[in-house]
Amino acid sequence: MLWQEIGDRVFTRRYEFFQQQIGVVLGGRDVLVVDTRSTPAQAREIVTELRQLTRDPASIIVDTHWHFDHTFGNSVFRPATIWGHVRAAAQLVREGPATIEGVAAELPAIAADIRETVIDPPERTFDDRATVKVGDRVVELSYHGRAHTDGDIVLVVPDANVMFAGDLLEEGAPPSFDDSFPLEWPATVERLLPLATGAVVPGHGAIGDRGFVLDQLAAFRRLVDLARAVHERRLDAEAAIAEPLFHGRPTPQTAFDRALAQIRGELD
Ligand SMILES: [Zn+2]
Repeated sequence: MLWQEIGDRVFTRRYEFFQQQIGVVLGGRDVLVVDTRSTPAQAREIVTELRQLTRDPASIIVDTHWHFDHTFGNSVFRPATIWGHVRAAAQLVREGPATIEGVAAELPAIAADIRETVIDPPERTFDDRATVKVGDRVVELSYHGRAHTDGDIVLVVPDANVMFAGDLLEEGAPPSFDDSFPLEWPATVERLLPLATGAVVPGHGAIGDRGFVLDQLAAFRRLVDLARAVHERRLDAEAAIAEPLFHGRPTPQTAFDRALAQIRGELD
């Protein structure tokens, strides 16, 4: 069995590629899928593997944020409805085409596949929260502030005690900071704590719980402290980067670049 049932009719599948976590929530004849992977070919793998869980097709897609490895499979799931944050949808349209070529250059192994992507943004967009009916149950979508991007949402399945956190939380590797707002990331993660009552599914890596959220919160707070120390010339940039904040790995340079840009007021 490729899927793991982490709550009543809530499943996850962790893919080798980027350690992506894809979620499924079943309710009545509805099939909700959380994130669609990086290429149409990768999305078709989800479609094939869904048959282990249900004969019904995916009817609802939720994009946790606009990044290619979460949305470039969207078109494969049509005519499903696609939900996402209003800014994630806009940014996918704006940045999607250039991202196809950027990723093709960076990751030759998926270059041909990613060039087949049809950019297909969410049409069911919202600013703060939305309730989505999945057959006989509901899931709650909510936005808690800027962090990994300016349009990350989390999905909570209240009757199964599960939260899908997208890339607000990552396990096993540092999160991507390329579009991030590091100074706001701690407060955004704090607002997830009341929702972290059971399983917590990160965008990448192993499933965690409330303790995992608290660990990540401490790391994001420490990143802000280090960036302020670098800004105030109390600490060398090299020393700051060398501190293994996230899962024992060196912190990406972009984390500090973005944090320092925010401290200087350049990202607002
Ligand atoms: Zn991401």
